[in-house]
Amino acid sequence: MNRCAIAIHGGAGTISRMSLDPDREAAYRVALERAARIGHDVLARGGASVEAVCAAVTDLEDDALFNAGRGAVFNADGEIEMDAAVMDGSRCRAGAVTGVKRIRNPVLAARAVMEKTPYVMLGRDGAEALALAQGLPIVTADYFFTPNRWQALQREKARRAAGAVTPVSDEDRHGTVGAVALDRAGNLAAATSTGGHTHKMAGRIGDTPIIGAGTYAENATCAVSATGDGEYFICLAVAHEIASRMRYLNESLADTASHVVMKTLADAGGTGGLVAIDRLGNVTMPFNTEGMYRASIGVDGRLTVGIHRST
Ligand code: ASP
Repeated sequence: MNRCAIAIHGGAGTISRMSLDPDREAAYRVALERAARIGHDVLARGGASVEAVCAAVTDLEDDALFNAGRGAVFNADGEIEMDAAVMDGSRCRAGAVTGVKRIRNPVLAARAVMEKTPYVMLGRDGAEALALAQGLPIVTADYFFTPNRWQALQREKARRAAGAVTPVSDEDRHGTVGAVALDRAGNLAAATSTGGHTHKMAGRIGDTPIIGAGTYAENATCAVSATGDGEYFICLAVAHEIASRMRYLNESLADTASHVVMKTLADAGGTGGLVAIDRLGNVTMPFNTEGMYRASIGVDGRLTVGIHRST
């Protein structure tokens, strides 16, 4: 049997051991393992990497622990606006949705854009109309109401009212879920989904749905799903930069991903991390923040789950 592997993330940021109580930490670990196994089961059955990354991301979107789907953060107007993307590394095909408010699983809408339209990116009402026409679950705003996210918005509003000029705190800023996979046919795929960041300006679009920034996959090099300061990931074309360095400099996945996250991104002032996989199934999960929720199941079938630097 050919090899298969998957890596997922649930966002990077300030995740100190002190701030994460043991019960919450355990809940994150359970959720990360569950999503990795859901994606890996698809691969193990011989399913496509696109199917696997969408299955893993859909599961994370349904879990209020993560800033995507059900647990998406609120923008400055107290609304949810989500972005998502998927890319099929075998065919130079991708789909993305931006600013959607009513789609339960934005990643499935992104997949519908890729598979059912001649486009790569659809925004807002158009994306929601496509999701509806494709029979994807549409929900009302209360589905996305979670007390923690609402409190984070109130915290940020109070901070600003008190005259804060610094950006929203790292803890309230970061989020996003994503997955990358290699299937038994040798095809790579990546998918990413996010609520963006708390108190973002209405209409702001991050790196997640931008192909080459927060999401990228091509069979010849790698698949990447990122999380972090979206604006930096866009300006540095982080995901595509990793693929380009592999292609032109012949660097290994681990070396190039580490260089881009720890040097290129960090030197520019950007924080975040990513999960990436190459065509041999090598997985790397670098981050320049205190922690990143992550899990992988490698070609050897071994599961890893990590949150902090020392897992
Ligand atoms: N990259 C996401 C965005 O900018 C947020 C995050 O991953 O924390 O929308």
